[in-house]
Amino acid sequence: MNEIILKDKEYVAGTYARFPVEIVNGKGSLVYDTNGKRYIDMGSGIGVTSFGISDDEWKKAVEEQLSSVQHMSNLYYTKPCADLAELLCNKTGMKKVFFSNSGAEANECAIKVARKYAAEKKGSDYFTIVTLKNSFHGRTLTTLAATGQEHYHELFMPLTPGFVHVNAGDIAELEETVKTHKVAGIMLECVQGEGGVIALDDEYVKAVAKLAEEEDIIIIIDEVQTGNGRTGKLYAYMNFGICPDVVTTAKGLGGGLPIGAAILGEKVQNVLGFGDHGSTYGGNPVCCAGAVSVLKRIDDAFLDEVKRKSEYIFKELEGAQGVKSVSGMGLMVGILPEKDCAKEIVQYCIDKGVLCLTAKNKVRLLPALNIPYDILKEAVAVIKEAFASV
Ligand SMILES: *Cc1c(COP(=O)(O)O)cnc(C)c1O
Repeated sequence: MNEIILKDKEYVAGTYARFPVEIVNGKGSLVYDTNGKRYIDMGSGIGVTSFGISDDEWKKAVEEQLSSVQHMSNLYYTKPCADLAELLCNKTGMKKVFFSNSGAEANECAIKVARKYAAEKKGSDYFTIVTLKNSFHGRTLTTLAATGQEHYHELFMPLTPGFVHVNAGDIAELEETVKTHKVAGIMLECVQGEGGVIALDDEYVKAVAKLAEEEDIIIIIDEVQTGNGRTGKLYAYMNFGICPDVVTTAKGLGGGLPIGAAILGEKVQNVLGFGDHGSTYGGNPVCCAGAVSVLKRIDDAFLDEVKRKSEYIFKELEGAQGVKSVSGMGLMVGILPEKDCAKEIVQYCIDKGVLCLTAKNKVRLLPALNIPYDILKEAVAVIKEAFASV
């Protein structure tokens, strides 16, 4: 094992089950390890490097900002922050943006917005946030409470109170929960990422949005993983024709620099006032400049390409040897093996020079949105071979 891996094992807190690969550089969808071995990156840093590694256009935007001013406090104005907020609002029809540094923080902001809106409108006992079982909303104690997967909660109790988890797809259960609890907000992922790349049912999402509207409950769509072109639309909720009150995003927004955003719709645009929320790094000009360059490139023609690549992946893998089913949307794909062997498949792919992710018992693919066809084909061939051989 190389010395960096040994040093990391000695000094870095052991929260990640890393593969024994040290990446030193890359370009686009290709990365290289210390021995110069080439890998196709089918995970893009968990859907973060939207345009791949060290993309020229993204790098130019970031470097230009880096050499003018890398950070100012939120006591002053900077252009990239204002530009990015404007772009997000124009592209979604929403009204205001709060910037943070991660997905969990974006969700924290959304939860605060829902609670303050409900407290002012209905009373401070209206604090319950309903989320779905099998969801993932982050690792802070509040977003863990929102996360509907028990195994993340164990040994960290008590979590922030006021969260209820319901079964995805069961609108009657949600209606009942809204009757029996004083609900401030409903939060969901249109495609559950960590939960196994599972797209929610179209009718269900529409029914949730309708219920939220009728009951004046804030609907929060967690687009941390699904956002920024990943599903073939700019935001996944756009596939469902709904109008959320709050959209949270992070991962792919910055193209590789840490940024999160809570995008606020008309109803909640003025809920946050002076001192209600804040973040030292929030709206950092370098991160925002990178994000502006990412968002500007995600137009309709580009999204059509994302969809075409998605169709290619689904067509190749559905019914392939060793594949039980393929799920997801756009370039967010989960592949369920016939045997319980997702980890072994990922290891097989690493040996053959392809980096894939897992989500529960599935192999998960989140390639860069601009992955070239020839590289995508090469990766899919290796993945098919892995499913057939492991
Ligand atoms: C990754 C993820 C988060 C957490 O984002 P961090 O940046 O790791 O805090 C929240 N929600 C969803 C849907 C995610 O995929």
